[in-house]
Amino acid sequence: MRIILFGSPGVGKGTQAKILQAKYNVPHISTGDILREAVKKQTPLGMKAHEIMSRGDLVPDDIIIGIIKDVLTSEECQNGFILDGFPRTLPQAAALDKLLKELEITDVLSIYFTATEEEIVNRLSNRRACHECNNIFSLSEIKDLTKCPVCNAENSFYERNDDKVEVIKKRLQVFNDSTKPTLDYYEEQGKLIFVNALKPVDEVTEDIMKAFDISRVTVH
Ligand code: AMP
Repeated sequence: MRIILFGSPGVGKGTQAKILQAKYNVPHISTGDILREAVKKQTPLGMKAHEIMSRGDLVPDDIIIGIIKDVLTSEECQNGFILDGFPRTLPQAAALDKLLKELEITDVLSIYFTATEEEIVNRLSNRRACHECNNIFSLSEIKDLTKCPVCNAENSFYERNDDKVEVIKKRLQVFNDSTKPTLDYYEEQGKLIFVNALKPVDEVTEDIMKAFDISRVTVH
């Protein structure tokens, strides 16, 4: 399975990517997670990215493209990948096209998660992340705020800096300005499948799996 998940922040890409990763046994590659891990470990990349991410801006293309090249050419991705959060700009999309051509990969399914802006703001401002396992939860689904239901870590929930209302607005603006043109680029190539992200999580998964099954018949 090779899939690119597109959609604005908070639309559920990470949730679906984790489900698909478990179902199809292919790695979930989230550029946001890679950057947050670098920030946590205070690597040179993390130090550079921290400030940019806190503002809701995009990390420079050359840095992100370099990361993705390393990951996609690694052993881990030989049998597939689920890309979440990349590409986000036209130069990133062009670099990905070039890389896939070099690797002779043609069977990539691109999925766009649609949702209203109102729902996105609501979701982002009501979610919490776990420091330990990086899973993200809606406040309404956390029964015990002191214990992560996935990894059992204690007192590990936090609100991401970029999930604060003023940063959310900036991230949505960045999405509209920089990432929407990327979607047009994929749509013009007839490569984009639309999935309604406002449906319940399991129905969204089903829609993606259906699209994947169809693509296996039609993509060569
Ligand atoms: P995400 O978790 O995908 O919403 O990403 C969190 C933040 O990481 C974004 O707001 C950006 O600052 C940065 N980031 C993640 N992916 C990219 C990318 N492909 N290009 C530039 N910046 C990125």
